[in-house]
Amino acid sequence: MIYLDHAATTPVPPEVADIVRDTLVNHYGNPSSQYPFGQEAKALVARCRETVADALGCKAEQLVFTSCGTESDNWALRLAAYRARHGGRHIVTTAVEHSAVLETCRQLEQDGCAVTYLKPDRSGRITAAQVAAALRGDTFLVSVMLVNNETGCVFPVREIADTLRARGSEALLHTDAVQGFLKVPFRADTLGADLISVSGHKIGAPKGVGALYLGERVKNARPLLAGGGQEAGLRSGTEATAQLAGFAEAVRLRSAGLEASLSHLAAVKAYALERLLAIEGVVRVGEGEAPHILSVSLVGYPSANIVEELGAQGICVSAGSACHRGRASHVYEAMGLDKRVKAGVLRVSFGPETTREEIDALADALRAHRDTRFPML
Ligand code: PLP
Repeated sequence: MIYLDHAATTPVPPEVADIVRDTLVNHYGNPSSQYPFGQEAKALVARCRETVADALGCKAEQLVFTSCGTESDNWALRLAAYRARHGGRHIVTTAVEHSAVLETCRQLEQDGCAVTYLKPDRSGRITAAQVAAALRGDTFLVSVMLVNNETGCVFPVREIADTLRARGSEALLHTDAVQGFLKVPFRADTLGADLISVSGHKIGAPKGVGALYLGERVKNARPLLAGGGQEAGLRSGTEATAQLAGFAEAVRLRSAGLEASLSHLAAVKAYALERLLAIEGVVRVGEGEAPHILSVSLVGYPSANIVEELGAQGICVSAGSACHRGRASHVYEAMGLDKRVKAGVLRVSFGPETTREEIDALADALRAHRDTRFPML
């Protein structure tokens, strides 16, 4: 199999799988239990938090573990709305956020909030000036992702933070960094965001674990789950120790070879761009800078058919975010792409082990598809 869909999810390295298994089988104590076997599990959770916080560039106590990026996004928006319940009503976000942010915004609209959805330009970019122009006196939250999951565009979160301060805005800044963590280097303590969402399964951890960074300004956040008081009382529920151990190990592995891995990704992406754009009828979509995501279009050829045909040959790419499950992507819609370009969009995303031979196989299969099928439009 040739797996070129690392933005959807990533393979779990054997070292990570071993630690997950070892934790499940040998260290299954409940971190809240008072005897040593339980306290060892508690210490394990503390070590995992240190490791992930270190890679994120924050203090361990500023990090709350969650079950996924979606949960982190939902919670970030809801806690900001609750905090502003006596004053702010307005949210600024983008039309190209992940559905975890967009659908939460829609629910908050039903609860009486007003939301401004900023549109990207045709290259997929959003600017700090757009955010500045959308701010209102009652804006309590700006939520702008760090890396778009379909185009790979990196949004100017640091500049947006500076703009908010310069304008004297009290709004909290949330960034969904699910596609940015350990791909586009940043430190939570200098990024300027108050809330940062990340997810384990995009970096080699098992599915079912994520984290939310809560910055200095987010004091007394409303707990997500009430109960036994785990996660400093902010998210009750017995800790998912095996997932956390896997998350920390994945972070350790990715961090250790980060520089080499990022330059490998950049080289693979440049090669893929060269090979794919050499196919007549293929154009680039957006100008994403993230090293692991490339969006192209085989103009006029429905991407669902391409994904199916390539999939049958063992080549995994995506027609956009895996979450759309075949529906047209709101991201390409918001970019105002031509109908025929939009029809043929493919997202190709890379991992540390992706090889040039795999890119060659993709390019050959795509060329064969073009030669043997008719464009629908
Ligand atoms: N945000 C972005 C940008 C994503 O790409 C994804 C997953 O595709 C998510 C949030 C959701 O993360 P999870 O799958 O961990 O819920």
